[in-house]
Amino acid sequence: MKGQGSRTERFRQEYRADLPADYDGWQQQRRITAAMLGTAGLLLLGVQGWSWTLAGVFVGSWTLSCLGEYLAHRLPMHHPLRGLEFMFRRHVRVHHRYFTDQEMAGADAKDVHATVLAPVQLLVLLTIGALPLSLGSWLLLGPDAARVCGASILGYICVFEWVHLACHLPAQHPAVRLPFLKQAREHHRLHHAPQHMSTRNFQISNPWVDGPLGTRLLTEPEEEREKAA
Ligand SMILES: [Zn+2]
Ligand SMILES: [Zn+2]
Repeated sequence: MKGQGSRTERFRQEYRADLPADYDGWQQQRRITAAMLGTAGLLLLGVQGWSWTLAGVFVGSWTLSCLGEYLAHRLPMHHPLRGLEFMFRRHVRVHHRYFTDQEMAGADAKDVHATVLAPVQLLVLLTIGALPLSLGSWLLLGPDAARVCGASILGYICVFEWVHLACHLPAQHPAVRLPFLKQAREHHRLHHAPQHMSTRNFQISNPWVDGPLGTRLLTEPEEEREKAA
């Protein structure tokens, strides 16, 4: 059931009421993005000498981030793994209750809170992902490689966050008309169907990645469409 009286809407109202009255999710997200992109920019400005090897490090780190996004979403966010239960709670118990395939759009600046990664999740990702990869790049290829690796991962996280936010924008928002976002939104909408969320469409910013990994759902099966109609 959609609309004011739905279970989803009641959950949203309770969630918004628990946030500080002056919380503005868009403003906070712009600040976090500026801090991350600013750090990435400083890292790139610190590079002493550019080479094709560094371009390879950038692309390689971006590709590993892409795989990391898939694995983080498929594993700790959808399965309560020991020590990372907070990721499961925040994702399945909050994000998937807040948005379903029938009610994907947010309507309030507070809804950003239920969409983006919590600061503690960001810290975990940076500590278990960006830090070891940057240190490994340093040991293998030197400090410039570590700077490029760190910048690539920070940039990737920003792209991921904003694509996910775009997936939860109202359908009439101008950004939604971009062809890539249309595809990403439908891919993510199918993931938000309760019957598919644990098994399908884990990649958000690069939907095609689910294909070779055997978890891509392109359209709703016919019988489910008929049930929803
Ligand atoms: Zn989502
Ligand atoms: Zn999910």
